[in-house]
Amino acid sequence: MRVLVTGGAGYIGSHTCVALTEKGFEPVVFDNFCNASPEAIRRVEGIVGRNIPVIEGDVRNRRALLDAIESHGIEAVIHFAALKSVGESVAHPLSYFDNNITGTITLLDAMQGASVHRLVFSSSATVYGQAERVPATEDSALSVTNPYGRTKLVMEQLIGDLCTAQPAFGAMILRYFNPVGAHPSGRIGEDPKGIPNNLMPYIAQVAVGRRDRLGIFGNDWPTADGTGVRDFIHVMDLAHAHVAALRGLDQHKGATVLNIGTGKGTSVLELVRAFESASGRQVPYAFAERRPGDVAELWADPTRAEQVLGWRAEHGIERMCEDTWRWQSAYPEGYA
Ligand code: NAD
Ligand code: UDP
Repeated sequence: MRVLVTGGAGYIGSHTCVALTEKGFEPVVFDNFCNASPEAIRRVEGIVGRNIPVIEGDVRNRRALLDAIESHGIEAVIHFAALKSVGESVAHPLSYFDNNITGTITLLDAMQGASVHRLVFSSSATVYGQAERVPATEDSALSVTNPYGRTKLVMEQLIGDLCTAQPAFGAMILRYFNPVGAHPSGRIGEDPKGIPNNLMPYIAQVAVGRRDRLGIFGNDWPTADGTGVRDFIHVMDLAHAHVAALRGLDQHKGATVLNIGTGKGTSVLELVRAFESASGRQVPYAFAERRPGDVAELWADPTRAEQVLGWRAEHGIERMCEDTWRWQSAYPEGYA
């Protein structure tokens, strides 16, 4: 099956291209490279030993999408392309609405025009907002605390409405918890531009000497050690969830929402310790103010993903740290 992978040059997209190819799917990357390097796809090609077609294009361009779908005989789409920085979305909400929501509407329209009806969509645990209880199930109350989260919630709803209106459409809406780690080869990984917003890349850059110390946002949360607790999931486990979701689309019509996490919570301090032990490096840190909008703890109930897809996460926190370190230590400056 040929699969259009929007945002396929990005962090999760590039790892998913590896998993897809290894499982016999043919990914075609569609990316405007606003937050990615073409080098990522060259490395993916090196890992899988095959060429991967790459189209430089924007998901807000319907004509470019239709050309890509038609010229490559596309049968399914995985839609990663989005802007994802919470802070930037607060400062520039309109560009987030345009890129993420307009981009998704344009993609759905092109898919409808080309009679491509299978979609796997990148959603996020951010749609649980200030979750009332953990673990979060797919039926937990939804709320958003920033424009990025709002775009994810709106996109989920748009896709749901389209699947209701057009029964031929099937969508797997995957709510990722906290993706971390890298391909075990260490050749591809997460390469944030500028100062990392997320915890794992920040820790990795401190360990490799690019930054002096980690700021831990709060040590007075109502958790066992006072630091925030999250459900970190290895990016290769996440990549395999996309393969399972594509396979599941033919049995499950309509829009299916699934949590993609491990079901285990790990605190910020536990992740720091695990990284120190995986890397053999010290990760100096200092406690700082809580970050606005953060929640004390959030982890997934991943039961439904296992029931629906037969998928579950396999890797623990040690492996996530080892693989991140292999990538970060081999390429301290990322793809630069
Ligand atoms: P990323 O920024 O590495 O990848 C996104 C890719 O989309 C990039 O390659 C970028 O160049 C491309 N892109 C953005 N806008 C585009 C447009 N208009 N047209 C074409 N290409 C465009 O991010 P990622 O971490 O790989 O995230 C992938 C998806 O998963 C995103 O939708 C993100 O919101 C979602 N997600 C990520 C996380 C996370 O922590 N990384 C968590 C939950 C959900
Ligand atoms: N965090 C931190 N320092 C950082 C980045 C993140 O202490 O430099 C904390 C953050 O407060 C949260 C956890 O690490 O408790 C995970 O944050 P991240 O931004 O990686 O993911 P989120 O769950 O917010 O999407």
